[in-house]
Amino acid sequence: MNIIHKIGLNGNRWRQFIRDHFWSIGIVLILIGNVLIFSKDKTVRKYYLYRDYRYFNQVIEDIAFPVEVINEAIVDTYGQPRPGGRIHEGIDIFCNWGTPVVAVVDGTIVYKGRDKLGGKVIYLLGRDNRVYYYAHLSRFAVIQNGDRVKQNQIIARAGNSGNAWSTPTHLHFEIMTIPWLLPLVMKNINPYKSLIETDTYMCLLDSLNREGLEIP
Ligand SMILES: [Zn+2]
Repeated sequence: MNIIHKIGLNGNRWRQFIRDHFWSIGIVLILIGNVLIFSKDKTVRKYYLYRDYRYFNQVIEDIAFPVEVINEAIVDTYGQPRPGGRIHEGIDIFCNWGTPVVAVVDGTIVYKGRDKLGGKVIYLLGRDNRVYYYAHLSRFAVIQNGDRVKQNQIIARAGNSGNAWSTPTHLHFEIMTIPWLLPLVMKNINPYKSLIETDTYMCLLDSLNREGLEIP
């Protein structure tokens, strides 16, 4: 007897089947949803990005500033258009070549490697369940995928790898949240407000001020 036959077209039996397999069916549907949405990545990401720009313009407290020293104040360029129909999904932090780049929170290095636009990149999964993305690095500290790192631990050095090869040295920094129901579709947050409220940034601004440099 095949399965359709076994379950039957009888309404009660269907109801029973759904009742018995409620959680399994739910999980399967969520997985299918994830795969469908992930396969339409580009459009959906854009949709989420715009949505996030309005709804998730939140401040994440207690993060560290991702580089140890900067030369100039950071500018909010999140959401700006970029070549090829892309959107700037992070903040650029200009600094000297080789400036130490640090973990902004306690967490785990989930990916240390290369991607086309970002060059040498790191994905740090924080204990706060957010993903922190660092791009255009010049080299990595002695860390491996899966390593646990502490806040302010040096994980790399700043550079201009990837599509930043023609621009001054900077760290491209992104913050992403992982939604409960669609964990494959990570949503970007504008990191600007979180960054300028860190103690390190305030101190840096102070010292830039003392040197008489202009702050935008
Ligand atoms: Zn950037």
